[in-house]
Amino acid sequence: MSTETTVATAVDVASWMQEVASAVEAEATHLTQLDSAIGDGDHGVNMTRGFRAVVEAADGSQPPGKQLVTAGKTLVSKVGGASGPLWGTALRRAGRAVGEAPALDGPVLADALDAALAGVVELGAAEPGDKTMVDALAPAVAALRAGVENGEDLGEAIAAATAAAEEGARSTVPMHARKGRASYLGERSIGHQDPGATSSALIVAALGRALGPTG
Ligand code: ADP
Ligand code: MG
Repeated sequence: MSTETTVATAVDVASWMQEVASAVEAEATHLTQLDSAIGDGDHGVNMTRGFRAVVEAADGSQPPGKQLVTAGKTLVSKVGGASGPLWGTALRRAGRAVGEAPALDGPVLADALDAALAGVVELGAAEPGDKTMVDALAPAVAALRAGVENGEDLGEAIAAATAAAEEGARSTVPMHARKGRASYLGERSIGHQDPGATSSALIVAALGRALGPTG
C-alpha cells in the first residue's frame, strides 16, 4: 500500500528575495535594453541595486510579514526609479497583509499578492492595458488565487501564476504606454516589451524556487 503524504509547502521570504536578486542581476542587461527602447535604460540597474540591498538588509529570523515590510522599505529607500516605490509599496503591503501569519502558504500568499497589486495600482494608477508591471502582475495574482482556491498544490499554483505573468509581460509588446516614462513616447512605445512587466514576471517566477516545507 502506498502512503502518500502531502507535505504542506510555503514560500520562504528570505529565499524569495535572494532568488529575485539573482534573477534580476542575471537579466539586468536585458531589462536595461528593454528600458533603453522605451525609457531611460536604468531598469536593470535599479532592480539589481534594489534587490541586492534587500538581501543585505534581510533578517531571515524575523516572521515573514516583517521581512516583507523591511524589504519594501529598503526598495523605497534605495531605488530612485519608478520601480523602487512601486515594488517597495507592493512588498510593504504584502507584508502587512501577511501580518502575524507564521508562513506564506497558499492562502496567505494569495492575500499577500492581492495586497501587493492593490498597492501598485493605488500608487501608480495604471490599469490593465497601460503597458506597465500591472499587465504581468494582475494575471499572475488571478492565476495564483484560482489555483489556491481549486486546492492545487502551491508549486502548481505558482507555476500557473508564472506562466500568466510571462504571458502578461509578452502581451505588453503591442500596447501603447499610458503610464510612466514610456508614455512620453506615445505610439512609438508600441512594439516593445515593457521592462517592469518583464522584471515582474521574474519576481513571480522566483516564488517557485523559494518553496519549502511549512513550519
Ligand atoms: P523609471 O521609469 O523611473 O526609470 P524604472 O525604469 O526602474 O523606473 O521602471 C520602469 C517600469 O516601471 C515600467 O516599465 C513600468 O512597468 C513601471 N511603471 C512606471 N510607471 C508606472 C505606473 N504608474 N504604474 C505601474 N507601473 C509603472
Ligand atoms: Mg527606467
